[in-house]
Amino acid sequence: MSGMTLQGDFAPEDEPHDLEAEPTKIVPDPQPEPDPEPIPDARLYVPEQEEWHVHIKRDSEKIYCYAKLPGEDWFHMLLNGEIYVSRQHEKYCLRCALRHGYLTEDRLFWQHRVPQHRKRVL
Ligand SMILES: [Zn+2]
Repeated sequence: MSGMTLQGDFAPEDEPHDLEAEPTKIVPDPQPEPDPEPIPDARLYVPEQEEWHVHIKRDSEKIYCYAKLPGEDWFHMLLNGEIYVSRQHEKYCLRCALRHGYLTEDRLFWQHRVPQHRKRVL
């Protein structure tokens, strides 16, 4: 035995007709095409400006980052042309410096962190 479909005459409408007039629908302005590859904000900030120096590696001397990458057991080399930061004898690639918080992408870092070294007397 096969089922039969019964169709009634009623339409599936349940709009309130006689109540309040519907507000005019707001058609949004056409959005500008999203940039397919937005340029990332590559700006970096140094919270402890007095401690750090920024360099471009230009010579043939082998320089190693003072931090190891997570999961790696060795100190990785900085490449010629690489931008790195130093503090006294320590040198760090930007990735490690970011990871350790020596650099930050937070433009408002000065609002979010409490200076650790300088203590101001009010
Ligand atoms: Zn590194």
